[in-house]
Amino acid sequence: MAEENSPGKSDRKVALVTGASRGIGRAIAIELARVNYEVMINYAANREAADEACAAVRAASVNEGVRVATCRANVADASARENLLQQTREQFGRLDLLVNNAGIAPDKRVDLLDATVDSFDHVIDVNLRGPYFLTQAVARWMIEQRSSGEIDDYRPAIVNITSVSAYAASPERGDYCVSKAGLSMMTKLYAARLAKEGINVYEIRPGVISTDMTAGVKAKYDRLIEGDLTPIKRWGTPEDVGRAVAAVATGMFAFSTGEVINVDGGFHLRRL
Ligand code: NAP
Repeated sequence: MAEENSPGKSDRKVALVTGASRGIGRAIAIELARVNYEVMINYAANREAADEACAAVRAASVNEGVRVATCRANVADASARENLLQQTREQFGRLDLLVNNAGIAPDKRVDLLDATVDSFDHVIDVNLRGPYFLTQAVARWMIEQRSSGEIDDYRPAIVNITSVSAYAASPERGDYCVSKAGLSMMTKLYAARLAKEGINVYEIRPGVISTDMTAGVKAKYDRLIEGDLTPIKRWGTPEDVGRAVAAVATGMFAFSTGEVINVDGGFHLRRL
């Protein structure tokens, strides 16, 4: 069972991490706890995994009494997003960091010429439309918190977890690629709009990371990594991505916004 949190506005920074019950999101939540954040763990359906992630985040926290909570919400659903933010307000009373991590791969990899509208709509809804409007609502709340002057030294930020698929074309999962390219542009849009509001926006672009999402294509990527896919010849870990988010969250990139941080073993390097 999740422990009870004490009521009232948090004294510490608070992060909302979407899709934090498993994989990359879980590791992001843990690394944020290590740099003294309190964390709202969002998930889609897997309550057991969310409770386990909650305990792991609590265990990783640098201080006693750190608040960690879970909230089931499908980021593709407008009323679920509203409830997620309402729960975050009630549990923590503030928000310093939004990490748009929740994402799905298409149920089936199919050739571009056989791709379906249903798969396209579903992937875009979760990976792009959801974060686009969650970010809009969070940005409004962050602006409100900033203008209230209630939080000392309030420097909020937003991080989007995209993918090398934002630029690398995989014709058997076009919907996923388009969703990540869109999320990449979304980073630029919000970075440009929110700088004057004191909110920095970053894109973290993972390569091949070992999670449930890639479990089904493990043999294929084992072979590619053994070959010449990446200069750094290993799978990425969720912690590799988590630590990059923690670096941004500690304010070390205060004069950078709209920045892309590749966490991909050098996959993006063109080589001759
Ligand atoms: P994963 O292991 O499949 O975990 C997905 C997480 O997202 C789970 O916590 C899941 O919750 C949650 N989720 C799924 N749909 C959701 C929805 N509609 N609303 C809210 N939460 C939802 O995935 P992952 O590999 O960690 O990927 C995380 C992110 O990194 C994704 O955006 C993915 O595209 C991106 N990425 C992954 C890789 C990779 O190689 N793994 C590479 C580049 C980018 P439940 O537990 O409740 O299902």
